[in-house]
Order: sequence, then structure tokens, then C-alpha cells
Amino acid sequence: MLLLTLIVSLAAIAGMVAYRVGEALGLASLQDSARQRLNLYALTLRHEVEKYEYLPKMLELDQAVVGLLERGTQSSLEVSRHLERLNERAKTRVIYILGRQGHVLATSNWQQADSYLGEDLSYRHYFSEARQGRPGFFFGVGTTRGEAGYYISAPISLAGHVMGVAVIKVDLDRLQDSWTHAQAPVIVSDHYGVAILSSVPAWKFTANQPLTEDVQQYLRETRQYNGLPIAPLDLLTQKVLSRDAQLVSWSGTGTESETEDQVRGLFLAQTLPFGANGWTLTLFLPTDLVYSMARLYAGLAALGILSFFVMLISWYLRRQQQRDRALARLQLERAHAQLERKVEERTRTLEETQAGLIHAGKLAVIGQLSTGLAHELNQPLTALRTLSGNTIRFMERGDLDTVRANLKRINDLVDSMGALTSQLKQFARKSPGHSGLADLNAIIDHALLILEPSIHQHRATIHVQLADDAGRVLCNPNRLEQVIVNLLSNAIDAASTQNAHPVVQISSQRQGQQVAIRVHDNGPGLSEEVRLHLFEPFFTTKDSGTGLGLGLAISMSIIQHCGGRLTADNLPSGGAVFTIVLPFPGAEKCTTH
Ligand code: ADP
Repeated sequence: MLLLTLIVSLAAIAGMVAYRVGEALGLASLQDSARQRLNLYALTLRHEVEKYEYLPKMLELDQAVVGLLERGTQSSLEVSRHLERLNERAKTRVIYILGRQGHVLATSNWQQADSYLGEDLSYRHYFSEARQGRPGFFFGVGTTRGEAGYYISAPISLAGHVMGVAVIKVDLDRLQDSWTHAQAPVIVSDHYGVAILSSVPAWKFTANQPLTEDVQQYLRETRQYNGLPIAPLDLLTQKVLSRDAQLVSWSGTGTESETEDQVRGLFLAQTLPFGANGWTLTLFLPTDLVYSMARLYAGLAALGILSFFVMLISWYLRRQQQRDRALARLQLERAHAQLERKVEERTRTLEETQAGLIHAGKLAVIGQLSTGLAHELNQPLTALRTLSGNTIRFMERGDLDTVRANLKRINDLVDSMGALTSQLKQFARKSPGHSGLADLNAIIDHALLILEPSIHQHRATIHVQLADDAGRVLCNPNRLEQVIVNLLSNAIDAASTQNAHPVVQISSQRQGQQVAIRVHDNGPGLSEEVRLHLFEPFFTTKDSGTGLGLGLAISMSIIQHCGGRLTADNLPSGGAVFTIVLPFPGAEKCTTH
């Protein structure tokens, strides 16, 4: 918001400065052109005035005039006729001769109704000037016809005495008419400030400053403007530019609409002094163009500043955006790196924890193993000790039959201990060997062959139901066979405990990318206690010598190493069910650990 205010203020200042500069430059050039035009007007006016200046003086040499004034040899009529001819040739308005008292003795307009002949013009300024031996110049309004004109007078002297005065009246209105065509109004003011010539007719005989009482009195006496009312020129000065130039406006109280049309708005009033009479030429030039140009400059400058700032801001925002994006990318990269580091750390921690757990698990197994082992080996060892002691005594007695029988039992005990260690060797071999593709049909056939004596002994019935699409699994075939033999054997054992006709069923079923192999029986099922410790090494409910309690622990280990699961549950109909889940070929590979 502050920035916006600042920019708008800057644009406004730039606009104002440009406006002022434009105005100053425009007015200076307008003044130049006004001066040039005024010089031109002054030249034509001077030419118009000066070309008659010599004429009154020349009349001093005119014999007719001299005859009239000095010798009385010429009659007034003769001289008037002579002046009439002269007036026609010189193209002046009137030429006339005044006597020493200021009476018109002869005049070119003697024939006209408003003839000056006999009139007393001693009150005229031009007469008094010439009467005192000086040329007179005077602009005034005629008393007879009320026609304005420029009067030039000269004394007619003889032997140093002024005998009379020669006067010519020149019409300057022609000049004024030619100025009317100019678009800019021009006026010529006399030394009272009264407009004696004006291109705007309504301005003629108006004063640009109020006339003092003395001046008014004088004008009344000399009848310079023949009693015409001198109205003030309704121009208001707006600004003074220099001694000869100011900005003015028309106050609008004028009467003629034409005038108002011509001078509406602000004008440059440029003045130029003219001649020795104290006359002044004033030219009024419209300033519309100057101000519209100044406004244009102001608009352009403000717009320029605004667009400059808009460009600056958009450039800054774009840079900021790029910087933000780069920063965000950097932060993202950092976060990513941090995350990766954390993942690595966690993975390491997990691996360490896992390693610790595995180690702890191993220790626990070793503990269990040693307890079980001690338990299992203790009995045969005690028996061996007793037997061997007995045998020595029987040998000393010479009872060789008993010695033989004892040695046979010792041999059996050593065999069972050997069987135990061989099973332990299997358990210790963690690696399940090579992974591979196991054909369930072949494995089950082989397992049933191995179990044939037991099946036969317990008169058990085995049902095999293999699904067509679940005949193969990913696992080492020998290991899997070992597992299946163990599960079937347990099932036959369990079923035969309470059935005269034990029934065991083995089936396979495809489950997506896995195969489930189920072994269930019609035995007593699994008690809560048994379920809890089922897969622990050396857990058995069987009599010593029949079971070591390692079967399920080894089976679990094998299945896990094949990337599968082994679970046990009770059937709703009674009996236990053991389920092996293994990857189907084409899914996961059987892994070795
Ligand atoms: P062992 O067969 O040497 O006892 P196992 O690890 O194979 O060792 O089995 C552990 C115990 O699990 C068995 O002693 C038995 O109590 C129980 N068990 C295994 N299979 C079954 C089954 N199908 N029904 C009931 N109990 C079972």
C-alpha cells in the first residue's frame, strides 16, 4: 500500500514537472513567435504612418498655401481645391490648413457636408504642438463625422514665425482590417492605454487600465475620442511572464458573442512599444496548444514512471519467485537427504536389533537345547553306568549270559543316543540346502512309503487330495519331504491314540501366488498348553524314547527358510490341522539363509 502510494506520488510529481517544463518551453516558443509577428505588425504600421510624415512639412513650400497664409493672394477656395487634388493623389483622408488661431482656412473636404472649413480646432493637441514649432502626431476621433484617424501636423513658418499649421488625417483602419484576418487578436494602444486600433472591433476604444480623473478631464477637453465612452478591456491578468508578456483571460463580460468566441480561454499577451508616441502593440496568442502539449508531456511522464515501476516490480517479483523456487528445491533436497539418512539410521538400528534378537534367540535355543539334551542323555547315561557296573560284577561271577544281555542293552542305549545326536545334527544344520522346485505328488508318495510300517501298524487311512494347480511348490524337495513325513507321522500318532481306525488327510490348495498344504487328523487335537510350546525344541508329550520333541521345531525352521509359514490349529470337527504355506513357482524364489 505504501509502495503504491509512493509510486503514484512519484508519477504525479513526474507529471507535474513534465507539465511545468512543457508549459515553460511552450510559452517561450509562443513568446518567440509573438515577438516575430509583432515586429511584422510594427513594420507595416510604421510604414503606413511614416509615409505621410513628410507631407505636412512639404506644404510649407507649397506656393498656394504660402499665398493663402502670408500674402493673402490665394483665396480659401482656391487652396481648398488645390488641397483636394493633393489629397486624392496622396490617398490621405483629409488635408487642411489652420490659421494661427486654429481655424480651418482651407481643407480638401471643402465640398463635403462635414467640411472642416471655418472650424476652430485650436483645442486639438496637434495644433498646439505645431503652433509651437513642433510636428504633431495625434490619434483621435473626428468631431464632425466621428471618424477615427491619425493626424500629422507641421508648422508653416515664415522668417521664424509660425504663420499657420498644415494637417493631414490618415486612415489607419485599413491596416486594422488586414489584422482582423489573423487568428490572434492584435491591438494598438496609445499612451493612455486606450486601444486605438484593434482587430477585434469590440475592443476598440477600450482601456486596458482605468483612466485617471485628470486624463478623463483632458480627453474631454481635447475631444480626442470625440466624447466616446472608454470602457475597460475585460482581460484578467493570470500570470506575468516578463516585462512584455503575460498570461491573460477574457473575463467574459463582453457584449459581442463573436468577440467571446474569438478570445475564450487563456492567452499570451505579448506587447511591443511602438514609436515615440508611447503607443504599444499587443498581440494575443491562444495558449490552448501549449497547455494541451504540456498535459500530453505530463501524461507521458506519469505513464513512463508508472510503466517503469510496473516493469521493475514484475522483474523483482519474478526474481523473488525464482529465488523462492530455488530455496524450496534446496529445502526439499535437504529434507530428502535427511530422510534418507534417517532411513539408513533406522535400518541400521533395526538390523542391529534384529541381530541382537537373533543372537538372544540363539542363546535361548541353546539353553533349551542343553536342558533337553541333558534330560535326554541323562537317562541312558544312568542306565549305562548301572549296566556297566552290573556287567563287571556278572563277568567276575562268570555269568556270561547276563553279561551278553547287558552288553546288548548297552548297545541299544548307545544306538538311541546316536539317533538323538543325528537328529540334533539335522537341527543344527540351519541351511536347508539348495532351494528348488518340489513336486508334491512325488514327495507325498515317497513320504507314505517311508511311513508304510507305521501306517500298517496303526491301520491308518491316508487321504491325499492335491489340487491340479497346486501340485508344485518352491522348496527344497528333500527338506519338504522331511517336514511332510514329520507332520504325517505326528498325525498318525495323534489319531491312533483314540481311534481304532485313524484317518489322516493331506491336501493342497492354490492361494494366489502361494500354495497351502494341510495335514489334518481325527486325533484329540491340540490342548492350550501344547499349542503354546508346540514348535519349541524338545517339547513333546510322547513317552521318552518315542519322541524327542524336535520334529516340529526342525519343520518350522525348514519352512521358514523356504520363505513359507507353518501353523497349527484345531478343527471344529475335532483333530488337529497343520498348514504349510509355500510360494508357488513363478512367484517368490525359495530363499536360502
Ligand atoms: P515328537 O513327535 O517327537 O513329540 P514333535 O515336535 O514332532 O516331537 O511334536 C511335539 C508334540 O506336539 C508332540 O509330542 C505332540 O504332543 C504334539 N503333536 C504333534 N502333532 C500332533 C497332532 N497331530 N495331534 C496332537 N498333538 C500333536
